[in-house]
Parts: sequence; structure tokens; C-alpha cells
Amino acid sequence: MIKKINLLMLCMGMLFVPVTKGFSQKKQDQPKYCRFSSDNYPANDICPNVQFNSFRTDEDIEKAVNDITSIIGLKPNFILIPCPDIQNAAALIYQDNLRYIVYDKKFLDGISKNVKSNWSNTMILAHEIGHHLNGHTLTSENKETTRKEELEADEFAGFILGKMGASKAEATAAMNGIPHPDCDVEYFSDHPCKEKRIEAIEKGWSKATGKKVKATSKQKSEQTKPIPVQKATLKGTWYTELDNERGTDGIRSLTITFLEGNIIHYRFFDSITGIITDEFESKYTLEKDVLIEVLPYNPNFKAKAKVQMLSKRALLLTIIDNGIAGYEGLKRVYIRVEE
Ligand SMILES: [Zn+2]
Repeated sequence: MIKKINLLMLCMGMLFVPVTKGFSQKKQDQPKYCRFSSDNYPANDICPNVQFNSFRTDEDIEKAVNDITSIIGLKPNFILIPCPDIQNAAALIYQDNLRYIVYDKKFLDGISKNVKSNWSNTMILAHEIGHHLNGHTLTSENKETTRKEELEADEFAGFILGKMGASKAEATAAMNGIPHPDCDVEYFSDHPCKEKRIEAIEKGWSKATGKKVKATSKQKSEQTKPIPVQKATLKGTWYTELDNERGTDGIRSLTITFLEGNIIHYRFFDSITGIITDEFESKYTLEKDVLIEVLPYNPNFKAKAKVQMLSKRALLLTIIDNGIAGYEGLKRVYIRVEE
């Protein structure tokens, strides 16, 4: 499982993370984008049509785009381009900061067919248009911001579909045709979980139609009982990402393993290669929900952090004092990668 995460990191790193100087330089030529499905990673040569301008859009897609923009009375601020075989639809900002929407018609039609709703194509296009009209920068460097922008684009799409006469179920149908991370482990994904996306679409749909929507299953699940913090619940390996911390340029991944004998084993990974760059162990004790650690790089000091179980697979660590100024109150979410 750890290996799988590293491979994922490698892929994400190659696409988004400016870790080395070489990468930072290359990054300027790469497009910035939101891709609708997190399952497919279009490469930086996302579609040769973007570069060569020799394209013909599909009439029905063009009509759908015109219908969407005419609802809000705004002129498109983007160029529409067909990209066969990317198995995705995406909003892009590319060279000279021009905005594009690229789409694979087979991908759009495939989702519509899967979920038996012709509204899905419109929803996906409206979502991508929502990114551009909201002026999203689509930089993908901060996953929390990216998830927030996804929800804004979803709300916009919900509004458009509501105005166009789609039912609530039709507006959210496309969400059943793509994969999503689970809500409790979405922290390291640039796409929000399904429940939050549906909630955002329904919010927009409700604004357009004036009809109220009921609380979703996500809101209900938030009322579940808290999980106590105990050595037994912590046992196993947990994964997190350090974002520009400790002088690193970019994201660095880290796992902690709670072992027998009150030991925490730390492993730091290179985000590009997945190779372990640093490894050490510390002794720990738990006082209620406070984790007290003797870190090897500061043996005369007891580091303290508050632990909170967000679910059985996600924990939130809030640093109380780790001996380094400026870290007080810093929150880190860890997700479980091994029991
Ligand atoms: Zn998006």
C-alpha cells in the first residue's frame, strides 16, 4: 500500500509539484488545468490541437456551450477544443494565459450512457466553464484550494442545469459516472468527495430553481460519535504531506508508524522518486489525547501534539509545541495506509 501511494505521489509530482529547479523552469510551459475526472491524468501535451489550432468542434457540444453561457448572459472567455482520446474534459490555462476547454466527446458520451442521463454532458461542460467564468487560476499547487475551486465549479454547473430545467437528480447524475475519493481521506486529492460535490451541485440547483434541498448523507454522518485516541487505534502506518515545511521547496511526503514499545518510526520520502530520504524513531506516550514525544534531534525536549481521530482512517495532529518557533497550532492530517 505504501508503494502504491508513492507511485501516486510520483505521478502527481511530475504533473504539479515544482520541487527541483529544473521542474520550476519547465513548469512555465505546462498548462494549468482542472480535469473533470481525477481518474485520468492528461499529460502536458494534453492535446496537440491546442498547439496546432487545426480543429473542428462538434456541433452539439458547441451548441451546449452556447446554451450554457447564454443563461448567464456572459460571452465565453475561453476557446473550445476537441481532444480525442484524453478520456476527460478539462478547463485549461495555457501559453500566454489563454483559457481553453478541451473535451473528449467519447468520454462525455460514455458518462451520459453510464448514468443514463443526457444532462451529464451539459453538467460537465458547465463545470469546466464555471472554472473559467469564476476566474480560477487552476494552478493545482494547493490541493485544498483546488478542492474549493472544484466545488465552486460544481455549484455553477448546478445553477446552470437548474436554469435549463434539469431535475435535481439529473443535475447530479454525472457524479455517478466518475471515481471519487472518500470524504475522510480526500486531503491529498485535488478532487473533493462525492457527497460534497453533490451538495455543491444541489446548492447551485436550489438557487436557480428556488426549491429547497434536504440535508445530505454527509451532513448526517458528521454527527457520528468521536473515536477515542488510544495506542490500539493508532497502531499501524499513517501518511501525510509536508507542504513547503522545514525549508523544503514544494511537497514532501512522510509516514509515521506506531510500533510496539511506544515507538514511532518516521520515514520521509522524495516526492519525485519516492525514495526514503530520512528515517528516525522517537519514543512516545499518550496522555489522554495528547501525544508526547522525545524526538532524536532534540532529546532534552518533550514535543507535544493533540491527536484527534477524524475517522478510523484519518487523524488530525495539531502541534502544541515541537521545540521550533512558529509551529504551534500547525495542523496535519494523516491517512492510514497500513493496519
Ligand atoms: Zn473542475
